[in-house]
Order: sequence, then structure tokens, then C-alpha cells
Amino acid sequence: MEIVFLGTGGGRINLIKQVRGTGGFRINSKSANIHVDPGPGALIYSIKNGQDPLSLDAIIVTHNHTDHVSDAAVMIEGMTSYSLKKRGIVIGSKKTLEGEEKGIGNWHQSLVTTYTAQYGDSKHFKTAKGEFGIEIAKMKHDEPTTFGFRLTMDGRIIGYITDTEYIESLVELTDCDLLIVNCIKPQSDGYHGHLTSEDVIKILRTAKPKKCVITHLGLKMLAKGPNEEADRITKESGIGTIAAKDGMKITL
Ligand SMILES: [Zn+2]
Repeated sequence: MEIVFLGTGGGRINLIKQVRGTGGFRINSKSANIHVDPGPGALIYSIKNGQDPLSLDAIIVTHNHTDHVSDAAVMIEGMTSYSLKKRGIVIGSKKTLEGEEKGIGNWHQSLVTTYTAQYGDSKHFKTAKGEFGIEIAKMKHDEPTTFGFRLTMDGRIIGYITDTEYIESLVELTDCDLLIVNCIKPQSDGYHGHLTSEDVIKILRTAKPKKCVITHLGLKMLAKGPNEEADRITKESGIGTIAAKDGMKITL
């Protein structure tokens, strides 16, 4: 299994300035290829990094914010062979799939099988190549239906904590081979809705994944030095943590 980071920037200034990309990440495995949070640039970064949208089996959109959903429609057109075949799975937050201002419209949804994420749900999906399981985790963000997950596929477990402020239940994402965490800033600055390095340390001490990657890095994090922050998180949590870079690949 391989995880490819197609955008590791976070925050509203980074989004417009594109200091770091905002294309989300992709999981390639025997049983499925899954694109998670295809924000602006997901298609272009996929092509540039040799990740063919035609070979996607599923797309996951954790919440209906521009930097997570804006390229979902075009990635669906790839997954469905140029929109010619009904194919693939889209897992989205309620606001993304059913909201008044849903980020994925009816026509694109008609090309795929959709599932609206519900906290606490555990679902199995069959793909053309195999199957995967997903457990939906509660997050607390200003998009009220934002979700994270534990994904089980080919004997590996990948956890993803997307945009959220700290809530107790985040530590329940246990047994992960890799936990990917959106860690936008090194320390609290009075704005809520996102995790800081301190929050990540707290989560890792209890959730104890085998490895952690911080991503969705904001300008304050980039200024401070993501590698130094990842080293500090490693030291204080005891869990090996690395800071994602655009184009980075991890093999599990
Ligand atoms: Zn967000």
C-alpha cells in the first residue's frame, strides 16, 4: 500500500497563495485506489505525480469546504472513465452530498455510488479489485457534518483526522498503522476549529498509532518549520511523526 500526498497546505491564505498544494492525498492498494479530500489542484497534482484519475475506485470528502471538495467533480469524471460509465464510490459528509450548497451536485452523484457518512457507522465496500472497510469518526469543525475515519484495507489500518478542534473522542482512533492528522499550526492562536501540535501530542499518547504524518500545514506552521515540529511531536508523544511534503510517498 502506498500513500501519495498531493497537497499538504492548509488555511485560507495558503489556499489562495498555493505556498503548498491543496489536492489532498491518495491511497493506492491492491483492493482500491482512493482519493481523499480533492481540493484545488487535485487533478493537476495527480497527473504531475503519475496518479491516474481513471484508476480511482473511491473518493472521500470529509467536509464541504472548498479546500477539500472543489476538485471532487472533476475527479469523479476521471473515476467514471470520462463520465461515460457509472463506476466507483463517493463517501461524503452530509453537507457535501445532501446540503443546500452541496459541493458535489446531483449529476456527478448520479455517476457513482454515494454514501453519506454518519458518526459511528462502520461500512464495507466492494470495489472491482477487492474491498475496504471504513469507520466514521466524529470531528468538530465549522462544517457541522465533518467526519474523520479509520480505513481498513489489505491488512492495514489508516486513520485520518481531518479539520477539527480537539475533542476527547479523537483518541479512540486506535490501532492505526498510520495516522494522518491535519495539524494547521504549532500553537493555539485564539482561532478554534483546527488542531495544534500540542493537540496532536495529546492524541498520539493515547491513540498510539505505529506512525503519524502531519499535513494540511498552515503558514504559521510552515514559518516555524514543520520538520522541527514533527521532531518535537515525536519526542513528546513517543510516536514517530513526519511532516508531509507535496509529492511525498509513504509505503506501508
Ligand atoms: Zn475545513
